[in-house]
Amino acid sequence: MHTPPGFAPSHRLPAVLPGTALGFAFSGPKLVVRGSVAAPAIPTLDELDAAGLAGDRHYLGDLAGIPCVEIALGDGVAPPPGFAAAGLRAFFVTLPDPLLALAARAFQVADWDRSHRYCGRCGARTRDREDERAKECTACGHVAYPRVSPAMMALVTRGRELLLARSARFAPGMYSALAGFVEPGETIEDCIRREVREEVGVEIANPAYFASQSWAFPHSLMIAYTAEYAGGAIRLDDPEIEDARWFPLDALPELPSAVSIARRLIDATVERLRAR
Ligand SMILES: [Zn+2]
Repeated sequence: MHTPPGFAPSHRLPAVLPGTALGFAFSGPKLVVRGSVAAPAIPTLDELDAAGLAGDRHYLGDLAGIPCVEIALGDGVAPPPGFAAAGLRAFFVTLPDPLLALAARAFQVADWDRSHRYCGRCGARTRDREDERAKECTACGHVAYPRVSPAMMALVTRGRELLLARSARFAPGMYSALAGFVEPGETIEDCIRREVREEVGVEIANPAYFASQSWAFPHSLMIAYTAEYAGGAIRLDDPEIEDARWFPLDALPELPSAVSIARRLIDATVERLRAR
């Protein structure tokens, strides 16, 4: 996920919103769409109003002249006739970009709104700040921003081999690059060294930035790196890792889907090593 071309983000809800504005409405973690999950459309505010779907609004921004709004319907709202609801992953194939990217952005705003109604420090009600996307405690002034959790991904190479691992959660036969969340006090590079060492017992050198991707499950920023092998033999200590191996370029296993940054990282690295 990313900021779509032509999209101007803003947190300031305009005083007047046209009925043609798009409403990214959530009931709990589920996106409510017009039509069906297989053939979804993002409803306009008029269509949501006519269906009696209303809730707190947060502005997302302007998509080439069309205002886009996140709407929190409350948990467990059943979609009325003509509407359907499902978790974001159900729309990966059916909702085209840029709508999918905006739905993922709206999901993170909705999740923040839902989980910061009360102050985490003193328990009083919070309110939205006007000057930024933040909630402020009405009693003690504590400020809570939407959470973004940096996570690193590392593809380690050794000559013309790639270090790929699989978690028991993966589809059978699928392997990917190593990944893990950044801990307080770490740089991304520190995190890569630690994660690769903890997960497979390998030392790395020359970490190099590749690209990043917002991942709304629920609030990650995936930061992808390549790195070179510097020592150690693969050792499987981490219960999260079911298997890890060095794969030659011409005998790669099943890889993650093309929408993932993991796949882009692997494909670009394979191309670079082949060109050597
Ligand atoms: Zn407070």
